[in-house]
Amino acid sequence: MRIGILALQGGVEEHQAMLERLDADVVRVRRPDELEGLDGLVIPGGESSVIDRLARTFGLANPLMDAIAAGLPVMGTCAGLIYLAKEVHGLAPGQQTLGALDITVARNSFGNQQDSFETTLDVGPVRDFPAVFIRAPKVLAVGAGAAEVAALPDATIVGLRSGNLLGLSFHPESTPDMRVHQWWLEEFVGG
Ligand code: GLN
Repeated sequence: MRIGILALQGGVEEHQAMLERLDADVVRVRRPDELEGLDGLVIPGGESSVIDRLARTFGLANPLMDAIAAGLPVMGTCAGLIYLAKEVHGLAPGQQTLGALDITVARNSFGNQQDSFETTLDVGPVRDFPAVFIRAPKVLAVGAGAAEVAALPDATIVGLRSGNLLGLSFHPESTPDMRVHQWWLEEFVGG
């Protein structure tokens, strides 16, 4: 399996290590031609406004939209989820998104006290996953085609799927537990 990681900024290393432990061939994607021949793509956490700016600078934004529209399986984590979303509250000036995932998210919305935290969640079929949240977005609303896959005890949605896309507010690459990546590979990528 050939899995790309959008490698403009953010947690590239951690996703790569985990995917390689799961026997994927990993390609770091910085140029449009590096999207060719991929079975799946990860958009990591980091800073969504920086990812957006660099993606447009390197001419990657439109090819990414085309690849997603053509059915490329994508997992976006944290900033990656924001970058996939159709509607975002609290965008940086001039910040754009791919607009591929029919949801509304709010950036940095857990507040100072809860800027970063870890909690145990069910994620799709994965039970009791140690989920790490770092200045995470909250999902405020999901469109008709999107379905929740993870929520906090107060019902805040922190994971959802829609067609070929999986979006997570937290960082499944930040723990040794590989089950979310494994599920994504099996369920979305088909490996
Ligand atoms: N707050 C960041 C953003 O808006 C996301 C944080 C993260 O990816 N850990 O892009």
